[in-house]
Amino acid sequence: MAASAGDAPPRRIRARCLIVGGGPAGMLLGLQLARGGVEVVVLEKHADFLRDFRGDTVHPSTLRLLDDLGLGDAFARLPQRRERALHVRFADRMLALADFGWLRPHPWLAFVPQWDLLDLLAGQARACPRFALRMATEATALCFDGDDPGGRVAGVLARDAQGSLRIEADLVVAADGRDSVLRAQSGLPLRELGAPMDVLWFRLPREARDPDCTHAVAGRGQFMVMIHRGDYWQVGLILPKDAAGAVAASPTELQARLHALAPDLDARVTALAAGGLHRLQVRVSRLRRWHRPGLLCIGDAAHAMSPIGGVGINLAFQDAAAAGNLLGPALCGAAPVPEALLARVQRRRMLPTRLIQRVQIELQRRVVARALAAGGPPPRAPRLARLASRLPVVRALPAWLFGLGPRPERIRFGAAGDSGR
Ligand SMILES: Cc1cc2nc3c(=O)[nH]c(=O)nc-3n(C[C@H](O)[C@H](O)[C@H](O)COP(=O)(O)OP(=O)(O)OC[C@H]3O[C@@H](n4cnc5c(N)ncnc54)[C@H](O)[C@@H]3O)c2cc1C
Repeated sequence: MAASAGDAPPRRIRARCLIVGGGPAGMLLGLQLARGGVEVVVLEKHADFLRDFRGDTVHPSTLRLLDDLGLGDAFARLPQRRERALHVRFADRMLALADFGWLRPHPWLAFVPQWDLLDLLAGQARACPRFALRMATEATALCFDGDDPGGRVAGVLARDAQGSLRIEADLVVAADGRDSVLRAQSGLPLRELGAPMDVLWFRLPREARDPDCTHAVAGRGQFMVMIHRGDYWQVGLILPKDAAGAVAASPTELQARLHALAPDLDARVTALAAGGLHRLQVRVSRLRRWHRPGLLCIGDAAHAMSPIGGVGINLAFQDAAAAGNLLGPALCGAAPVPEALLARVQRRRMLPTRLIQRVQIELQRRVVARALAAGGPPPRAPRLARLASRLPVVRALPAWLFGLGPRPERIRFGAAGDSGR
């Protein structure tokens, strides 16, 4: 950020740990570290957490972390809907293809507005004496020791309503999401894994005759997920990447696509408010290396996930929990955090990330791309799906993979009872 003549010099702040991004990854890590007594500053560029159509799928893996934090009861009081199974609607029948009912202690997944969950975490963190959340403050650039871009990351430049800021820290955590500015400046190489589809998110009114569960609707050329939100559906229409822009721009085209999938729904498109359509450009990517001296990337900043399985926020929480456990004790001291510790966070989280992305890529290739390339009316339930829906062990597998995942984390640093030493 170049200062022009006459600009006031940036105000200076120091923190032991600076987290950029108040999404799921940043807020959970901030809370954990603050509970454990670390001086931590979180920057969030927006003035509030109010964002519609983000990851709202809270899996059992996250519910266990909330229990560890002593927030299970507070979470249960948030507005939410619990689903024990996920269904797919074919032309001839509806089948349950994932069953969470055998998972313990939370045999369900919860759909919760992301802002409510972030508000809960922020409220808890604010009660810790060494925590500061600076809303409406945007990091614009990394700072390096000796202003040498090859050197150790020493903080960030940022701007808020009062002007520019220089925040110095012993460790900067980039939790600034899939378009991470810090990652872009870090020079860490990103590997794009590709996705054939984009998602258009919008709301439609729910009617009494509609199914009473969250489900996907199988189609040819497009398909959709319908998240039960009480009096409305949160609909995600999945389209080939090259078609999504045109459909987003044309209500008639959107109506035709919906009519092909679910003729009972298309008339409700008229209820769609202007600006009520949100396009998610699906990207699947991951960093080869999540760190360099003084900097660690976590959550979407380290790996953007496909929406398949609704794992995005849950993996972000898992990364944060692992980072808190591994880095918290070192951050309680005053010595620089060795890069070897940052590498341990990556080593711990890389396996689940790669495994889940591998499954998502296979599903994108074998199921999504084929369905999107096909034409004709919605399909009848294939024999394999009918068989799967009858075998509990087959229904349990996707629930385990996406609901708990390999190497699920538990919170050891900053768990319930710690409140800032
Ligand atoms: C439209 C959309 C729909 C989605 N739907 C689903 C879904 O259905 N299920 C699912 O599991 N996942 C979904 N995801 C993905 C999910 O939201 C993310 O995987 C998850 O939120 C990642 O958490 P995070 O904390 O790593 O990053 P984010 O949630 O992206 O949080 C990053 C935060 O950093 C802030 N920020 C960014 N840049 C700066 C900066 N320079 N300075 C300060 N703050 C900054 C942002 O405002 C944001 O609050 C969706 C994502 C999008 C965009």
